[in-house]
Amino acid sequence: MSVDIHVHRIVNRWGYVSTPSPEATTKALELEMPSQYWVRTNALLVPFGKHICTGQMPRCSTCPVLEMCAQHGVTRHR
Ligand code: SF4
Repeated sequence: MSVDIHVHRIVNRWGYVSTPSPEATTKALELEMPSQYWVRTNALLVPFGKHICTGQMPRCSTCPVLEMCAQHGVTRHR
């Protein structure tokens, strides 16, 4: 599982994992998620993190997964 800062941020905001670093997120996702989804998940979440679930001021008001997201740690958003 390839986890960069985008994937780490998003899955923690979702509440899917609760981890302090991308390295810890990699381990948690590899335990939680079937391996056939690893490559596709990374390919989808990197652009999602660049354009929707951004580091500063994520675009929650237009986010397609808003109703499924715990928004952990999100204090300000668009
Ligand atoms: S609702 Fe907001 S915090 Fe949750 S995934 Fe969408 S943009 Fe990210």
